[in-house]
Amino acid sequence: MTPFRYTKASGTAHAVELSRHAAAASYLAGGTNLVDLMRETIERPQTLIDVSELSGGIEDLDGGGLRIGAGVKNTSVATHWSVRQRFPLLSQAILSGASGQIRNMASVGGNILQRTRCYYFYDDAARCNKREPDAGCDALEGFNRIHAILGASGSCVATHPSDMCVALAALDATAQLEGQKGARSIKLTELHRLPGDTPEIETELQPGELITAVELEANRFGSRCIYRKVRDRSSFAFALVSVAAALDLTDDGTIREARLALGGVAHKPWRARLAEAVLAGATPTEARFREAAEAELAGARGLAHNAFKIELAKRVIVSSFVGLSQSGGAPA
Ligand code: SF4
Repeated sequence: MTPFRYTKASGTAHAVELSRHAAAASYLAGGTNLVDLMRETIERPQTLIDVSELSGGIEDLDGGGLRIGAGVKNTSVATHWSVRQRFPLLSQAILSGASGQIRNMASVGGNILQRTRCYYFYDDAARCNKREPDAGCDALEGFNRIHAILGASGSCVATHPSDMCVALAALDATAQLEGQKGARSIKLTELHRLPGDTPEIETELQPGELITAVELEANRFGSRCIYRKVRDRSSFAFALVSVAAALDLTDDGTIREARLALGGVAHKPWRARLAEAVLAGATPTEARFREAAEAELAGARGLAHNAFKIELAKRVIVSSFVGLSQSGGAPA
């Protein structure tokens, strides 16, 4: 591990102020990904600004929404009564990720900003444009079973590893930010970037900008929502494909609104707006769900070892929506 300076922030404004004066600073919350990256010298911050005590808690918002502080631990979010009752999709997604021990340490902000698990990114003997711009990408011709099928580029085919973010994308969450130019907000679906020619730039965050909270608006999905994750083993594994799906049906049974986001398929949590458009106002049939899945995956491109994800994603989308249309969804 490369030597670094450690300092602790007493509040959000203090954290941002510390980052203004520190060279090559990183914020430290749970450290479940950052510390691993530092041990492997993939990340080498000169200063760590500890924000782990700036939790913010979980608060009700007017109109039935919820504000979740960026420092709140993943376990606390997943088990919180209001989250389980009003946003069960988020609870399901978090509980499908990592292990109990890691969820106890990992924060909401850290979960959002965790780095890809591309093998070559963690191997400093491999070529990786994300780790070293213009170095090349060994995943393109290497073993790319876990890599992206949507929105990838010739520079990078990595995927975003978070489960929580897939649910947040489907729920249309907003991230609250604090930076050197003040506070602002951004939709979670806009926070992460596709790789393009600059895969080393992963988010729209400005230097020193800190995620302070995530906000969720009330919705009408109730328990008619599900997070399904397909992975190589049943626990402590990242998604090959995951689906966050929610349905709002009218009294006569047509679809008032469908939400869909995919994980394990792109450099960012993938909000499936093409599929949502096919489903809006439709009768919920298996054929229509298949049509929606086909529309969303029409632009997917497979590599040597991950083309199976295209059909897999379609099947998980269809089976998830069929289940939701026939039942009330998963229990909170
Ligand atoms: Fe690096 Fe992205 Fe290529 Fe993986 S896919 S080796 S993260 S550039």
